Amino acid sequence: MMTPREVAADYNLTAHGTVSSPGKFEGEAWYVVAIWDLVMNSYEDRDTGEDPTIAWFHVDADFVDGIEFHQTDREDFLATYPLGSYLGIWEDSQGFVYVTDRGKTSEEVDADDQGESCPHCGSDDLQETPAGTHCVSCGVNVDEAGGA
Ligand SMILES: [Zn+2]
Repeated sequence: MMTPREVAADYNLTAHGTVSSPGKFEGEAWYVVAIWDLVMNSYEDRDTGEDPTIAWFHVDADFVDGIEFHQTDREDFLATYPLGSYLGIWEDSQGFVYVTDRGKTSEEVDADDQGESCPHCGSDDLQETPAGTHCVSCGVNVDEAGGA
């Protein structure tokens, strides 16, 4: 996996390791760049859905050990993506890359295989309303958010 130093060679990072360069990874943690690089080399454990296809990584000890954290980053990461959960990452139709806002269970990943998911946050908790498909998790109108 790419190191923070390798990511910083291509992108400006804040002191907290957030990408500040405009574009694809803006506002994301440096490790999102490194994880997307793994997707580009087809190292993900699963793929679900279309438009967007979400690539899933099983968060196990090997995966976490592959990420070169500063100590506090590692704790933050594990608080969001506990061991045993799945981290989802995808590219929207504008070319921006996002990760799930928390680790998902294998049941949630299975459910994503069967239905539409929010192109903004990856949640499959969608609700049909007269105004269109609404994401219960982040509140966006899915029909407007990404052409899904
Ligand atoms: Zn959402």
